[in-house]
Amino acid sequence: MAAKAIPGPILLLGAPGSGKGTQAKELVKIWEIPQISTGDLLRATKEQDTPLGRMVKEAMRRGELVSDSLVNQMVAVRLEQPDTVNGYILDGFPRTLVQAAWLDERLTARESGLPVIAVSIQVDYNQLLRRITGRRNCPVCGTIYNIYSQPPQRSGFCDLEGAALVQRADDTEKALAERMRAYEALTAPVIEPADRYDCGRHCCGCSAIESEWSVIGGQWSVPGASDGLLAAVTDH
Ligand code: ADP
Repeated sequence: MAAKAIPGPILLLGAPGSGKGTQAKELVKIWEIPQISTGDLLRATKEQDTPLGRMVKEAMRRGELVSDSLVNQMVAVRLEQPDTVNGYILDGFPRTLVQAAWLDERLTARESGLPVIAVSIQVDYNQLLRRITGRRNCPVCGTIYNIYSQPPQRSGFCDLEGAALVQRADDTEKALAERMRAYEALTAPVIEPADRYDCGRHCCGCSAIESEWSVIGGQWSVPGASDGLLAAVTDH
């Protein structure tokens, strides 16, 4: 079912493994606006056999964030595409205060009149660990499995394609520790409650009006996540 209203930009924030990508795909179906995942854009970049590709690959393998200037530039290019005119879902961006400030400036400069909604998805650490270390992907069709909670019928192989499943290079416990460290140090401040910032029309890159800030910090844990998230987004 496609929603009739125009949603505007939706920012999905949350720790690694919190389900931003999964939730984004649900919102895409409903609102028919594109999902823009900086993780996916960077995964495409790291496949390139160029100095930039190699740099991105190394940072991601270690679980570190990629430079703000590169990520901002990638997002800027993507937002020029005409499919973003009625809104878009930013999945995993902004992830630092520098990215948030950049986005804020951009949203202010191109005031579309559409509200900006920022949603933080919060999930307990042990669950994140199980989700991430258990995650396996089909390299052919992209289906995501979890060896603990959603295993394929035949261990190690995609139900649909029969292809051998792969694990993301940064889905190890070691890389996750670094991803969580980066999240706590750099991303958590972006989604802290509004009272930390001067919360006017625009606020730390999220461009959220006060009532919309109530969405931030909401607790939605999967499997209830979609309901909570959809209610949050639909009620704006
Ligand atoms: P997760 O949220 O589970 O870490 P993502 O696919 O969103 O997964 O991100 C994977 C990796 O891509 C991150 O660990 C980081 O190296 C890089 N990355 C993604 N988004 C950003 C961003 N906005 N800024 C900097 N690096 C990013």
